[in-house]
Order: sequence, then C-alpha cells, then structure tokens
Amino acid sequence: MAKVVMLTFDVEEDCPPFAETRRGMEEGLPKVMDVLEEFKIRGTFLFTGRIAEEFPELAERAGKKHELGCHGLEHERFDRLSHEEARRRLAEAREILSRFGDVTSFRAPNFQFPDKYYRILADLGFKVDSSKARHKGWRGGVAEIDGVLEVPATTTSIVTRLPWRLQERFHRGFESPIVYIFHPWEFVRMPRRLRPDCWFGTGEGALEKLRALIEFHLEGGARFMTLREFYGKYQKLKRG
Ligand SMILES: [Zn+2]
Repeated sequence: MAKVVMLTFDVEEDCPPFAETRRGMEEGLPKVMDVLEEFKIRGTFLFTGRIAEEFPELAERAGKKHELGCHGLEHERFDRLSHEEARRRLAEAREILSRFGDVTSFRAPNFQFPDKYYRILADLGFKVDSSKARHKGWRGGVAEIDGVLEVPATTTSIVTRLPWRLQERFHRGFESPIVYIFHPWEFVRMPRRLRPDCWFGTGEGALEKLRALIEFHLEGGARFMTLREFYGKYQKLKRG
C-alpha cells in the first residue's frame, strides 16, 4: 500500500505568542502555495479566523485550490477556556472561514484541546481533528472521538527544518498516514531575539526542504492528500 502523506499548515501570526508580525502571510505563504501547486499537490491550510479576515485573498486561495481548515479564532488555548467560551470562539471562527470555503478540519493551537470539547466540533460540522500528536504523547493513531475523526500529527515542525541529510531518515521511518505540520513563518527568516524554535532553520532554506520532502515522497510512491480527502477515504473503507 502506498503511504499517505498530508501536508498541513497552521496559518497564524508569526510564531505566536512571541512575535507580532505577519511576515509568514506577507512573504512565506504565497511561495509555499506556489510550490505545492507546481507539484499539483493540495495542502490543508488551517487558518485562525482573524488571519483569514486580515488576508482574505490567501484564505480564498486555500479554499479554492487546497483545503481550508480552522486553527481557532485568535490562536487561543482551548484548555484554558470554558465550554461556553470554546463553543463561541469555534462557531465564530467557522463562520468567518466559511466565507472562503467549505471548512471541515480543525487543529487546536498548541495541540491543546480537551477531549470533552470534541462534541462541540461535531455539532458545528467539523469532521476531522488533528490536535493530537505523537510528540505530545498521543499513542492511538487514527481514531474516532465523539463523531470526529482524529488524524494525529506525526512530528513537530522542527524536524522538517533540520538539514535534509538529518531529516531524511525520519521520513523513511514514519508510518502512514503521515501528517506533517508547517507554519507560514517558517518560510521567512525569523529574528534571533525570539526563542530558538521560532527562528531555527527558518527562511528560504525551509522552502527548499519542503521541495526535497515532496520529491522524496513522490519518488517513494506516496499519495498526497488533504485531511478532508483522507476523511473521505476512511469513510469509504469503513463502509467496505
Ligand atoms: Zn498554531
């Protein structure tokens, strides 16, 4: 069976909450979309509601040519919100994003999303969540949680910023389905006054590594999908 690879992008302000800039959207994201489109690969772009309002043309491009998903309203920590507040923010984010496309996938900022809130996602029409991560202790693989399909992230975004010869062996070892996480700000050079994980390996080099990653998996015969496409495939297999 061919490996399934999903390229997902959390579209947020630059390295939140450590920087206030928007260079990821101004300079990084258009180049990232160009690369994917050049390879005829569709990515999943999980926008915060506020960033979609600030950069409507990018949200529209994601909705038309890729998959547009949700990354909260303003990059809030859902584990610190009441049920009511979590619901209000998710509903508002979904309402904003729905102006630009059909929104069915979600990832919580900082991978912080209490299990008891999955029901809110299902009620609001979300089908897929990718807020769990192996590097945050999730061991369950793909799972159904309260009417939402959990498709966990495979690795932290630092891995894809390592020198290519170091990261290659990780890609070889990852089990399908592989969910990569990127951020627009990784594709612009971030200032060194920030935390090291905010600037390490950022800049034009990250774009070259994204290309290398795509070529590596294409050569290996992998199938690229969006989170939504994976959901469709999963439902089909389930029905038999
Ligand atoms: Zn984020």
